[in-house]
Amino acid sequence: MKNPKPKEWTADKWSKGYIADYKPFMFVDGEGVRCSVYVSGCLFACEGCFNKAIQNFNYGKPYTQELEDTILADLSQDYVQGLTLLGGEPFLNTQVCLSLVNRFREQFGNTKDIWSWSGYTFEELLLETEDKLELLSKIDVLVDGRFELTRRDLSLQFRGSSNQRIIDVKKSLPQKEVVIWQKCLDAERYYGK
Ligand code: SF4
Repeated sequence: MKNPKPKEWTADKWSKGYIADYKPFMFVDGEGVRCSVYVSGCLFACEGCFNKAIQNFNYGKPYTQELEDTILADLSQDYVQGLTLLGGEPFLNTQVCLSLVNRFREQFGNTKDIWSWSGYTFEELLLETEDKLELLSKIDVLVDGRFELTRRDLSLQFRGSSNQRIIDVKKSLPQKEVVIWQKCLDAERYYGK
């Protein structure tokens, strides 16, 4: 597993603007029915990564305006609660993610929500580049941290290892301190909250 220094890895250097997959109407990538975008490329190299192929920034296909239009049309369905960004690493693909997130907010405001997974922790993101901070400020829920094989727990809600946290970003950002998502079912077991 790699641990970058603040601002060591940047999306403008690494991202190729590729996505591995787009899956509409998912039930497992966060709360409710969601449209999930899996961006390509990740540098964390966690042992036991669920999908090593997706670590390659050239994996999959280019993200296009046409696909973005499709995603927004899917999101407009009443029964869809929101958008989920996963990877790969969304915060090393901020060009793709910010384009989508900005249109999402224009169209839906705060009537729907945005979740993102990241190998970065919340604290690491606070020390990161402007584009990463902008993306963080525009999402509602962050599932943070690398996958740690020694802490793997298949019973966890929405995450693979017990170091990872489900974070309420809107509550955490003003105080620059993690506030665990209120509906986290196993928060008491792991965070004493
Ligand atoms: S952060 Fe996620 S995608 Fe990246 S190497 Fe780790 S498990 Fe794989």
